[in-house]
Amino acid sequence: MSDRIALIEAGGTKFIVGVGDASRQIHARTRIDTTRPEETIPAAIDWLRAQGGDYAAVGIASFGPLDLDRASPKWGHITRTTKPHWSDADIAGPFARAFGCPVAIDTDVNGAALAEWEWGAGQGTNSTLYLTVGTGVGGGAVVGGRLIHGLSHPEMGHIRMPRHPDDRGFAGHCSFHGDCLEGLAAGPSIIARWGASLSDLPADHIGHDIIAWHLAQAVQTFQAILDPARIILGGGVMGTPGLLDRVRIRASEAGAGYFAGDPSRVITSPALGSDVGLLGALALALRAAG
Ligand code: ZN
Repeated sequence: MSDRIALIEAGGTKFIVGVGDASRQIHARTRIDTTRPEETIPAAIDWLRAQGGDYAAVGIASFGPLDLDRASPKWGHITRTTKPHWSDADIAGPFARAFGCPVAIDTDVNGAALAEWEWGAGQGTNSTLYLTVGTGVGGGAVVGGRLIHGLSHPEMGHIRMPRHPDDRGFAGHCSFHGDCLEGLAAGPSIIARWGASLSDLPADHIGHDIIAWHLAQAVQTFQAILDPARIILGGGVMGTPGLLDRVRIRASEAGAGYFAGDPSRVITSPALGSDVGLLGALALALRAAG
């Protein structure tokens, strides 16, 4: 039996498709634009077939929201998305039919949380939360070696937020909730307020403190609910120089010394770099393959 794993990082603008194995080697990869499901998914399958087509498992780390209820007829489908053409799209089914092997699918952030817990910044801990802050905000968490699921999957980017006193005039950018965490801290909300990305604003611009403060409130919420040993902050916005330290300082203030974890140790950067999407798919698939 093949020990090769088919890997799909399904994003809103591109699919990264790869072939890996249990030793965490990624042997080949390609990029396919995310256009329509009936174009993008067959293109991914064709490429995987061209690599040999014999796989022990398929791992899919996907944008969402997803139906992850195994008892649902819509398991492995995108549910309600603002991305045109993709609401109700079946992501997992076409790969299962094409390759006849176990298919694991979860959110991209759940995949990243699992990979960072297995091999990265959360290694050796009993609990790791991964939050990406980029064009959107999303989070996943591993507790006791298991990814947290409920009816489907967490939507940590959509928690309700207190407001920074100097940011009350902004309505927020989430099309569902306005000023949820994503609506206040994702990249598009930064552009909407100040006309530039955070990394392009001067170092003394108040935007840095407003975003750090909002992320620190979110960190405090996650500490209060889950008390994770690691809270890993990734995504494009977190690439802003100095932001991680600002969040640590603001989170220390917000927590007021109440939580077990010291924010300077608990809050950290990802360790797996730009491969975290494919490695997330791999971590998911290795569990499905047993
Ligand atoms: Zn929202």
